[in-house]
Amino acid sequence: MFNANKYSTKELIEMELRDMPYSETKDNIVGFALQLVENEAYYVAEAVAEAILHYKDDENDTQSVQCNMCMWRGDEEELTLEKEEDETFKACPNCKTDAYLMDLPVGGVQCKA
Ligand SMILES: [Zn+2]
Repeated sequence: MFNANKYSTKELIEMELRDMPYSETKDNIVGFALQLVENEAYYVAEAVAEAILHYKDDENDTQSVQCNMCMWRGDEEELTLEKEEDETFKACPNCKTDAYLMDLPVGGVQCKA
């Protein structure tokens, strides 16, 4: 019989996520779910579902950027793709360089939960 007590909360969370390929986001999801279980008394499955949702939302947020050269502001999607030698990079639509681009904070980094 499966005995949940043999496993740590973290291991249980990792088992829930065993189909997800390793990534930084997965790490974050595990950490976030662990917090929910330990601090908010969530069930493991519930915490994992919540954490996945939380980080899915994050991925959909578009990063806002500012060019410190011309003070242009916009979403990352509005940057132009520039090619230099064999490298392609996202650049300011006015200056055609990424040297002055700065990420703007998106609504703080705190969790809404
Ligand atoms: Zn610019």
